[in-house]
Amino acid sequence: MLSVYIHYPFCASKCAYCDFVSRPGSSPQERAAYEKLIIKEIAGAAERLPFRPRPAANTIYFGGGTPSLMEPGTVERIIKEIDLRFGIRQGAEISMESNPAAEKAGEWLNGARAAGVNRLVVGVQSLDDKELSFLGRAHNARQASSFFAKARASGFDSVGIDLIYGLPGQRARDWEKTLEQALDMNPDHVSLYCLEAPQGTRLAADIESGKIKPLDGDAQADMYFAAARAIESSGRACYEISNFSRPGHECRHNLVYWLGGDYLGVGLSACSYIGGERVENERGFSRYKEKVERGERPARSSERLSYPRRLRESAAMALRTSAGFVSPDIHSFHGRALEADLAALERDGFIETKPSGARALLPDKRFVSDSAFSRLI
Ligand code: SF4
Repeated sequence: MLSVYIHYPFCASKCAYCDFVSRPGSSPQERAAYEKLIIKEIAGAAERLPFRPRPAANTIYFGGGTPSLMEPGTVERIIKEIDLRFGIRQGAEISMESNPAAEKAGEWLNGARAAGVNRLVVGVQSLDDKELSFLGRAHNARQASSFFAKARASGFDSVGIDLIYGLPGQRARDWEKTLEQALDMNPDHVSLYCLEAPQGTRLAADIESGKIKPLDGDAQADMYFAAARAIESSGRACYEISNFSRPGHECRHNLVYWLGGDYLGVGLSACSYIGGERVENERGFSRYKEKVERGERPARSSERLSYPRRLRESAAMALRTSAGFVSPDIHSFHGRALEADLAALERDGFIETKPSGARALLPDKRFVSDSAFSRLI
């Protein structure tokens, strides 16, 4: 089985904290050219795939950027190309990220649904207009609620939301209010993101110049745990550190990343992991275009992971999930070395062994999991 990620790099505006490969101000010609490149890259990737017969796509994920800026016709043509080159399995999950500032939202949502998208992720982020403006988002709280309601009415199988917490100056009660309103919207899935300020962003510059004081880590951790309690008690289970869902609404595409499956990334900056090789695509438009037009893989870097690296990465990723990690190898030299490190993490109170035998992160360590996982890699 294969998962396909499509990166759409255009946005209505650039958010203050964003370091994704995305930019505002694209022309219709540029967007049309990008669609052609995506289609050509899918065809080339199918030829180069090291497996025969080619595995059919079980999940497709349109991310960005703002893929909801795509015309539904573009979405349909891309899905058809994936079907033509790989096949799409019956019941495949086809997800798309969306921005509530979309123009003619109802029409676009119906078009995306008709094109084959069955799972929508709405980038709500906050339901406080001051916070949305601070983040540089192109929408307000009213647009977010209205877009979500229209998405529900459009008949997607699953509609989820993304929320950001830990903003400078954000108080616990501000966050609780957003959470309460967000849960009232009745999403099938909630993803939580702690605000970060990557180098090169407007937010990082404002923090460096002292204009903005970031919220401290303890307050951010409190916000995470307050949210986790509220979301879990609303019937949405935490199936990965930052992701909560109703039963059956887990994001199958993201589970492929966490559980070490193969995925093909298409588009600027997209990453692939196929047969133990990790590839990152070009991040600049002209280099990407040149390579795709020449029929080459538009790779910026590639790396074949060694067996111990794969084993350790799969442990670190699977420990993020509630299912946890079961080692496929406890007898080889590398398998035993990993076991010793997992035992040390268990002794230090980060993970536990469940009755099933799987190792899993302890819930109270979810906010400090990165330091634990870095000990495995
Ligand atoms: S909408 Fe998303 S990808 Fe676009 S600028 Fe904002 S955070 Fe970045």
